[in-house]
Amino acid sequence: MPELPEVETVRRGLEARAAGRHIVGVEVRHPQVIAGPVEEFEQSVRGRIGRLDRKGKAIAVELISRNGAAPHYLLVRLGMTGQVTVVPVEYPLEPHTHVRLILENGEEIRYRDIRRFGRLRYCTQAELEEIFSALGPDAPAMTDAEFIAALAGRRTPIKSWLLNQGRLAGVGNIYADEALFAARIHPLTLAGSIKPEAARKLRRAVERVLRSAIAMQGTSLRDYIDIEGRPGRFRVKLKVYQRNGEPCPRCGAKIRRLVLSGRSSHYCPRCQKRAQGSGARG
Ligand SMILES: [Zn+2]
Repeated sequence: MPELPEVETVRRGLEARAAGRHIVGVEVRHPQVIAGPVEEFEQSVRGRIGRLDRKGKAIAVELISRNGAAPHYLLVRLGMTGQVTVVPVEYPLEPHTHVRLILENGEEIRYRDIRRFGRLRYCTQAELEEIFSALGPDAPAMTDAEFIAALAGRRTPIKSWLLNQGRLAGVGNIYADEALFAARIHPLTLAGSIKPEAARKLRRAVERVLRSAIAMQGTSLRDYIDIEGRPGRFRVKLKVYQRNGEPCPRCGAKIRRLVLSGRSSHYCPRCQKRAQGSGARG
């Protein structure tokens, strides 16, 4: 599932390939991936592509109309298996291509999504602001003080806390496991029990892991590709994620997996010990 580094890679690719271009036509081939009225989407997603913003895992494409009206936006969420590419219009359509945004220069932006959990949505500036304000701060932008304050009093396992997009936007299963390993914190440790020094370490580990993954265009496990159709290269750097049974790269103990709220957590039982009395049961 694409997390902040993969989404940021797509945002940068769109910025490089599509900013300044005009969307002159829209074809919705599967309405399920459109949030809101499909007809409005087809009629309104037009104009020159301006800024490309991102918060957490959501990309906002600014659309500027010729008549000088206020900008409007195309919001893109990749869900589990969403892919955005920019290709010449004559390229053969791959299966699961659900939306085509035709550009004036003979190319088009294609949205492909096998599992169809991703969503494209047309919205006004006010609607975009509301959507973005429901998300926590973008993970790399959070300060130590904000991070420590947000953990205070939270009686939820830190792994679940990291995945909650309303607290901290952009971190998903892969980078949460990697950051907890780097900071030597057990995934079931209650968020509010983490001491300030350990919290600072974790905040920095989150930022470091995300930045290194962005530098390698993210992690491709199955479906994620960048705008040119290339997989991310961070997978080889994963230290614990999906490495259960393999030796910990730090101490050699076998990496373990536990299931928390239906999702796998991978950790080293020796490097990420649970402090007595500070963890949830499990
Ligand atoms: Zn270890």
